[in-house]
Amino acid sequence: MLQKVLIANRGEIALRITRACKTLGIKTVGIYSSADKDLMHLRFCDEAVCIGPGASSESYLNIPAIITAAEITGADAIHPGYGFLAENAEFAEIVENSGFTFIGPRPEHIRLMGNKVSAITAMRKAGVPTVPGSAHAVTPQNALAEAKEIGFPLIVKAASGGGGRGMRIVENVDTLLESVQAAQRDAEMWFSDDTVYMERFLQKPRHVEVQILADGNGHAIHLYDRDCSLQRRHQKVLEEAPAPNLPEKARADILEACVKACKLMQYRGAGTFEFLFEDGEFFFIEMNTRVQVEHPVTEMVTGIDIIEQQLLIAGGLGLNIQQKDVEVKGHAIECRINAEDPTTFLPSPGKIEHFYAPGGAGIRLDSHIYDGYSIPPYYDSMIAKLIAHGKDRATSMARMKQALDEMILTGVKTNIPLHKDLILEDKNFREKAMDIHYLEKHLLKQLEGHQD
Ligand code: ADP
Repeated sequence: MLQKVLIANRGEIALRITRACKTLGIKTVGIYSSADKDLMHLRFCDEAVCIGPGASSESYLNIPAIITAAEITGADAIHPGYGFLAENAEFAEIVENSGFTFIGPRPEHIRLMGNKVSAITAMRKAGVPTVPGSAHAVTPQNALAEAKEIGFPLIVKAASGGGGRGMRIVENVDTLLESVQAAQRDAEMWFSDDTVYMERFLQKPRHVEVQILADGNGHAIHLYDRDCSLQRRHQKVLEEAPAPNLPEKARADILEACVKACKLMQYRGAGTFEFLFEDGEFFFIEMNTRVQVEHPVTEMVTGIDIIEQQLLIAGGLGLNIQQKDVEVKGHAIECRINAEDPTTFLPSPGKIEHFYAPGGAGIRLDSHIYDGYSIPPYYDSMIAKLIAHGKDRATSMARMKQALDEMILTGVKTNIPLHKDLILEDKNFREKAMDIHYLEKHLLKQLEGHQD
């Protein structure tokens, strides 16, 4: 079993990993940038090492500094969390070549899934349904022929893309070439790889994803599905588990296909298959080879601690859960609480004056913030995840609403009003899961109307 884990991350996920390690009796090393010395988890870690200045490129993305911190503290494993280096195959390789255990998949699988073109190709081979599209690099030379096959509207995406960046929707042939060239430029700028590909732009899909766990030796299970359709700029805002109103046959088929793919690859650790779901059909878009922000909703309905399982698998203890033992109980929702202006969405870093954490039956708060904590301007604006669990969707929503009402957070602006007054009050959303455009095209439009 692992003895000492270095947590190569910050914020709520660093605290979440610290908690899981301590529960298992594993010692912890926290790392932090000089802008982050007040992070909550550092108080609970056995050791803490400053790895560089505020800018992530010099701290949380600084591979030599992180490896050195692991060496001087005698850690035996590194947990990357999500974001930063979590899906960097080179980092995973360096960690393993330096004699540490990487708490995540094998570098080859991170690499395979890190490139969406190779990921789609692998999924097609494994029998997982994908979006009709190119599945190879598109250039100004072959774009027209590819587009004719796919049809319009289509979407041009970066093979190495992430974070919803650099996607371009092309309505017709007139803008095809300029869109491909612009997407290549964006892809080079954001991801240092100008490879782009094209796929059919689905008009009104939902985002449905499947959580899996696998031991690296061919044993794999799924922990059912989540719906993450409420998005702004392709970024998730609210997630729920299980995905509401899925036809049972389609659900069973896709869960089985994901497990089969993991067994085939001999995948190791936690992972998520992301799909677009439209007219009863699933289309694979990508696989995340790490723990996701929204993992708590799955934990609430299955009772399985996903980070604990990551630690056990990495520690060589395997995956001691059988598929028949995984059961979904009730429904869970997660609201991402960001320090940002609720109408302009501009980040709102600064000092939290007063914070009161909500509680009660079925409520969970994953957050590192506290009274007097200063949110640094360098990182992501997500400061908390509020999760509500109940016997059904309506109960989890009622509990979420109550918890949001109770939450006090002053000193910085947050998106709490967006969740409380707009999303959870919306009749359509309360009745059923909506598509990926609903938040931006309908709910946020109401907000604009309100401002006028
Ligand atoms: P990233 O890795 O940048 O997050 P994804 O491929 O996961 O990119 O896509 C993110 C989001 O973009 C999806 O959840 C969906 O909202 C939208 N999207 C991606 N591909 C398509 C498509 N083919 N049709 C419609 N929307 C899409």
